[in-house]
Amino acid sequence: MALRTADDYLDSIRKRSLRVFYRGERMDSVVDHPIAWPAANCVAEVYRAALAPETASQLAVDSPLVGEPVNVSNILWRSRDDLIARIKWERLLGRMTGRGALRSPGLDAINALAVITHRCDRERGTAYHERLLAFVARIQREDLAVSGAMTDVRGDRSRRPATQADPDLFLRVVSRERGGVVLRGAKAHQTSAVHCHEHVVLPMTCGPDEGAWAIACAVPSDAPGITHVYARQPSDSRRAEGSPLDAGLPAFGGCESLMIFDDVFVPDHHVFLCGEAEYTQELVRLFGSFHRFCYGGCKVGIADVVIGAASLIATANGVRDRSAVEAKLTEMVQLNETMYACGLAAALESAPTEAGTWIPDIALANVTKLNVTRFPFEIARLAADIAGGAMLTLPSQADLEHPEIGPAVRKYMAGHPDVPTAERMALFRLLEFLTHGAGAVYFLHESLHGAGAPEAMRILLRREVPLAPFEAAARHLMAR
Ligand SMILES: Cc1cc2nc3c(=O)[nH]c(=O)nc-3n(C[C@H](O)[C@H](O)[C@H](O)COP(=O)(O)OP(=O)(O)OC[C@H]3O[C@@H](n4cnc5c(N)ncnc54)[C@H](O)[C@@H]3O)c2cc1C
Repeated sequence: MALRTADDYLDSIRKRSLRVFYRGERMDSVVDHPIAWPAANCVAEVYRAALAPETASQLAVDSPLVGEPVNVSNILWRSRDDLIARIKWERLLGRMTGRGALRSPGLDAINALAVITHRCDRERGTAYHERLLAFVARIQREDLAVSGAMTDVRGDRSRRPATQADPDLFLRVVSRERGGVVLRGAKAHQTSAVHCHEHVVLPMTCGPDEGAWAIACAVPSDAPGITHVYARQPSDSRRAEGSPLDAGLPAFGGCESLMIFDDVFVPDHHVFLCGEAEYTQELVRLFGSFHRFCYGGCKVGIADVVIGAASLIATANGVRDRSAVEAKLTEMVQLNETMYACGLAAALESAPTEAGTWIPDIALANVTKLNVTRFPFEIARLAADIAGGAMLTLPSQADLEHPEIGPAVRKYMAGHPDVPTAERMALFRLLEFLTHGAGAVYFLHESLHGAGAPEAMRILLRREVPLAPFEAAARHLMAR
């Protein structure tokens, strides 16, 4: 099968019996529920793009593992070119959907595990790497959507797994049974988990006495004992109102869930680390850095849409040719291309690993994400400046179309005569969605916290880029 159609993907998710709660009720279909549809359709778009003639060359590549073309979301990186290509296709999908690739946490998880399982096998005589490769071959062959589940709920942030008031606040192995392990706990903020076939579960950093929490494995999304609590997002209920104009971007979106493991059995052949706590810190470093790296593409693609919408609004407002507007748009482009350049640089400086895979430059990956924690906020501020107040004070679609008040709304919401009023209003709503509505979860909040809060990057940078060589350079010049 190797490349599924979007319809086949959506049907395969419809057939799964998942336990999902939304606003205190069971969500009957994570595909057809109006709140969930845009996120399901966004994952489907990654499938569509891999088969569409105009994008297939970027989204599908030959896999040496299975000997046929597979989706780039499931590959192990085999070259510098794979990593450069990743930044480009992430940007493409961000631009196509206003959200992004959605299968990326799973991609980062399998690539981080490829390095760690190989190292663990060599040093400890375990047999994890072959298991991982068998899993990767299966997800490639069946074109499965895979989530990357690392973030534990973590209770008191000052406490480690073993010293929490409740040991389940970090996902852990509660028992080892013949042929597998049993997991209990919860992972927070799980992107697209309800729309995935498999979850790749990763541990956070564990101390030497915290082997029970050092678990990495793959779990099918419909495994008995898994429950999702589907997150609310700003303006999400607009999607259920049947007013596409008010929704801003009705076609696409994202979703996160609180994923609860209530004694979930995982067979041994899906376990990739179990108790080897000494490898968890490096696993976190790699997974976190790989995911930070990809923001140099996906957030850039969303920013492309924000910049485009701001430019079109300036046209609709009749001020597109003014130098002050041009300066703001130019600044937005500069900030955006800086994020992109850093992502590309991390790919250009990539290096091979002992596992035969390639990884981006870790320092530059973290600088990429540090830029991303700030620049989208500035781009959003400049877009709001250009848009003016109407972006957040606009009448509704029902008022626009109302027989009594509609003509007045159309008359008074008019801008430049060449731009229809409804189009001007749709532009405001799109920008509102991306910077203040459900889209802001991804353009702004995920830019800040996704793949770790900014401090995680600073801590890593302090380790990755020692200042001693810079001090030596200063001393050297002083002595001349
Ligand atoms: C939209 C979105 C999608 C996401 N998708 C995924 C996903 O698919 N998979 C996944 O595994 N994770 C995902 N995440 C989780 C993401 O990695 C975390 O949000 C991030 O690591 C921050 O953790 P937190 O949210 O628990 O915040 P916290 O860790 O509570 O951070 C809040 C603040 O407290 C500070 N802080 C925390 N601990 C300490 C401490 N000990 N000392 C001093 N300061 C501290 C932080 O620096 C930060 O400033 C997603 C997050 C978002 C927002």
